[in-house]
Amino acid sequence: MTYKKDDVVTVAIEDIGTSGEGIGKIDGYTLFIKDAVIGDEVEVKIIKAKKNYGYGRLMKVVKPSPYRVEPKCPVAKQCGGCQLQQMSYESQLEFKTKLVKNNVERIGGLKERTEASQNYNENKTQAVDAEEAENAGYVLEPIIGMDDPFHYRNKAQYPVGLNKDKEIVMGFYAGRTHYIVDCTDCALGAPINARILEAVKEWMKRRHITVYNEEAGKGLVRHVLIRNGYHTNQIMVCLVLNAQAHHHRFTSFEQLSDGGKLKKSDMEDLVEALKKIDGMTSIMVNYNEDRTNVILGEQCDTLWGQSYIEDYIGEIKYQISPLSFFQVNPQQTEKLYNKALEYADLKGGETVWDLYCGIGTISLFLAGKAKKVYGVEIVPQAIEDAKNNASINGITNAEFFVGKAEEVVPAFYEEKKKAAAAGDAEAAESIHPDVIVVDPPRKGCEESLLETIVAMAPDRVVYVSCDSSTLARDLKFLEAHGYKTERVTPVDQFAQTVHVETVVLMSRVDK
Ligand code: SAH
Repeated sequence: MTYKKDDVVTVAIEDIGTSGEGIGKIDGYTLFIKDAVIGDEVEVKIIKAKKNYGYGRLMKVVKPSPYRVEPKCPVAKQCGGCQLQQMSYESQLEFKTKLVKNNVERIGGLKERTEASQNYNENKTQAVDAEEAENAGYVLEPIIGMDDPFHYRNKAQYPVGLNKDKEIVMGFYAGRTHYIVDCTDCALGAPINARILEAVKEWMKRRHITVYNEEAGKGLVRHVLIRNGYHTNQIMVCLVLNAQAHHHRFTSFEQLSDGGKLKKSDMEDLVEALKKIDGMTSIMVNYNEDRTNVILGEQCDTLWGQSYIEDYIGEIKYQISPLSFFQVNPQQTEKLYNKALEYADLKGGETVWDLYCGIGTISLFLAGKAKKVYGVEIVPQAIEDAKNNASINGITNAEFFVGKAEEVVPAFYEEKKKAAAAGDAEAAESIHPDVIVVDPPRKGCEESLLETIVAMAPDRVVYVSCDSSTLARDLKFLEAHGYKTERVTPVDQFAQTVHVETVVLMSRVDK
């Protein structure tokens, strides 16, 4: 039977889709329903009907699922930033584990290790039949969840606008629109953010500072960016202004009196209001006159304090400026890197490559345990940060390259291969590393890079992934070229959302 738009039906939710939506079936007709939880019985109105499937709007929860909880945030549904707040945290972790397992098994063709094969692998004296031993699968380790699945983000960017009563609002864009919903206490952000935003709002009212209007391209304040140091509790506030950047370093407030938009006393007043907040170490402005959705412009000025905040991941210290990339959940990042370190199994003499290294966080985390680390990253600014981070931590055994991993690594390999053949021992070590770590964006690794990895023949590949379907595809390639997937650990870096990170250990079969 098929259904049509506006039909109202009652359906049991039996599965969960990749965007966190509930999936239910009536007479073989599949319905995708946002905000429905697996285990719910719900009444839905069909909003879009195809031949064999449709999309429904949740009208009423007839019988709530045992996994259903009241969302912590009153605007969770409107915001869309969190897709899973209506699920208990344990069931979120269960969902993420299943997602990873399904992908590596269905797309990657992997098999989870059975007890017999596990015994064989760990204790080779155990008699098991040859086929079983050969097929010994991978070990799925328990997902690494959060102690507190809220307030974990160390970075927030609030758009600033006016509501229909012309009052200043700061919050998030509703759905796919550019209408701003007032919300200053996001459940994922630092609790102090609400106070900071109130102070900025009060200042704007007090000094008659204008709000940026996207359509007209007029008005001054576009966004408020807040960064919090997890270990240091340092705070940075950066106002994104629709104003011209200065061509020289900012030295006095006078220079901000750009086109009469801001007075020196306005900025002094802002600094006075913000510096009272405990932990404030950096008050900055960023200039962005472009009529785009890109939040930050290229230039910043420091109004008060430092031009960066500091934070730690493990023992490594970082300087984070408004424009720097930095992991948004430092607590879970440390757990993830520790897992990567465990898998890398470093004893001190190893050569390691860290591909897609960003600001060098994994490279520097491993450098203390290895002889030499090479990092590769496409964004030049990130590599500058990586070098600076190495230097402020006194790390001298890390070397960084700018470029596409799929171009830099093969070129390096070809060049050093000749030197190695001529007897250059360092060149030989650099192209035959002990461990290669990859942490690519969602689209995964290019096949040409995987081919070079196979040619470099590291003993271990540690794959850190933010998309388990492309991860699975790449594991399949490496499995077909002499590597075996040993262990898989999902890590929850983004509680309340559908995202899940995975760390995988692969080892070379014919060592
Ligand atoms: N390992 C880092 C960052 C991982 S995010 C960390 O843990 O913080 C993925 C990184 O890959 C981003 O910094 C992105 O700029 C970079 N990147 C994207 N495509 C790339 C490519 N083709 N070659 C190298 N780096 C790339």
